[in-house]
Amino acid sequence: MSVTKRTPIPVSEAVERVMKHTNHWHSERISLTECDDRVLAEDVTAANDVPPFNRSPYDGFAIFSSDTCEASENNPIKLQVLETIGAGHVAQHSVTSGTAIRIMTGAQIPDGADAVIMLELVKEIKENDISFIEIRRTVKRNDNISFQGEDTKEGTVLAEAGTLITPGLIAVLATFGFHTVSVFKKPVVGILSTGTELLDIHEPLQPGKIRNSNAYMAAAQVKAMGADVKLYQHREDDLDALYENVQDCLNESDIVITTGGVSVGDFDYLPAVYEKLGAQVLFNKIAMRPGSVTTVATCNGKWLFGLSGNPSACFVGCELFVRPVILAGMKRSKPHCSVHKAILTTDFPKPNPFTRFVRAILKDGENNRHVTPAGLDKSSSISSLLAANSLIVLPGRTRGWERGSEVGVLTWYGEGSEWPWDFPLFFKSSATKTAEKQP
Ligand code: AMP
Ligand code: MG
Repeated sequence: MSVTKRTPIPVSEAVERVMKHTNHWHSERISLTECDDRVLAEDVTAANDVPPFNRSPYDGFAIFSSDTCEASENNPIKLQVLETIGAGHVAQHSVTSGTAIRIMTGAQIPDGADAVIMLELVKEIKENDISFIEIRRTVKRNDNISFQGEDTKEGTVLAEAGTLITPGLIAVLATFGFHTVSVFKKPVVGILSTGTELLDIHEPLQPGKIRNSNAYMAAAQVKAMGADVKLYQHREDDLDALYENVQDCLNESDIVITTGGVSVGDFDYLPAVYEKLGAQVLFNKIAMRPGSVTTVATCNGKWLFGLSGNPSACFVGCELFVRPVILAGMKRSKPHCSVHKAILTTDFPKPNPFTRFVRAILKDGENNRHVTPAGLDKSSSISSLLAANSLIVLPGRTRGWERGSEVGVLTWYGEGSEWPWDFPLFFKSSATKTAEKQP
């Protein structure tokens, strides 16, 4: 595709083109103590039964249950206590009729015993230095036994590759002796902001200049997606220098995000940089706002995301296109933003020639969720990014939306979603939707 010709494609098409090119990241084996929040690169199978032996769930006495079949308040039965076993120990004796073994929680049920009676339910007595218990109730066979394999049977697949490692999964991995675990390597995302107007964050303001906020925002976004970040010094709009800068980034990263300079302005050099690199441009114009100039390309197995310099456009581009590349590369089953439906609380009168992503505040209402645009709806706005916890998605070729309409909403937290998004609010075709009045 020529980088000079700009044909807008629908958002859905853009996502699909990106997904077609995703590849799995390499895996690495790391210590269990280091694997929090990483993603499994191998299926985890139970190597043994859990529990691995029949064990007592209480402190009590392991008995032979049929000894108690006549036991009652008026007819206590007496059993001789042979020994005491704590958790981690194995009984020396077997339980036979007329005997019991004092057993603590977690200890292996002794041979011969077929039930446990809790400590509180027996009377302990001593006669001539010999310990006995009195039982005044019947105990059924298998009462109070945790059976081998009742929790997990050997061979069960416990978690598949692509599963996020949570504390619960760590418990499972430890249970089965995974002192190391195969996880997907974190892709390295190089972030290069471009723009002669940019200042470093520690620099005082100067006439005509602004501080580089995109790099830090995008870094936070991709870190939350599970990537490692390499933050590069921002660069001025200069074709030759940028070409070299991007090349350096490509050499050192799996994914390169550039911000700014991707449009058609006089000093927007990224399209020319892609051309010079011989990158395969997947698209360079999307029917969306903000971020219609968002460009995605691949180059020798690496990714190039040319995000708009406008902070909100940059944010949206990162969530829509970078997120699934990072997460699908780790076999995450729901690599896209989470999808919700909500009721619009205010009119949104602006027409939407392109699909519009409106920074918004999503709240739970009594019966449904409510969503409200977050402040200034300009792609340059950062205050709305601060307030927003979601993006309203208004399909293209709709004229405006009224309070009370049901709209689709995306969030960058939550369990994520699969593709395609399964309800039509997002991508109504041009033929079907022009702002219907809601009752
Ligand atoms: P561009 O995409 O280069 O046309 O930039 C669009 C707008 O975003 C311009 O107003 C830029 O000054 C602004 N901008 C570009 N890069 C950044 C950045 N790294 N941080 C904040 N704003 C930026
Ligand atoms: Mg610029």
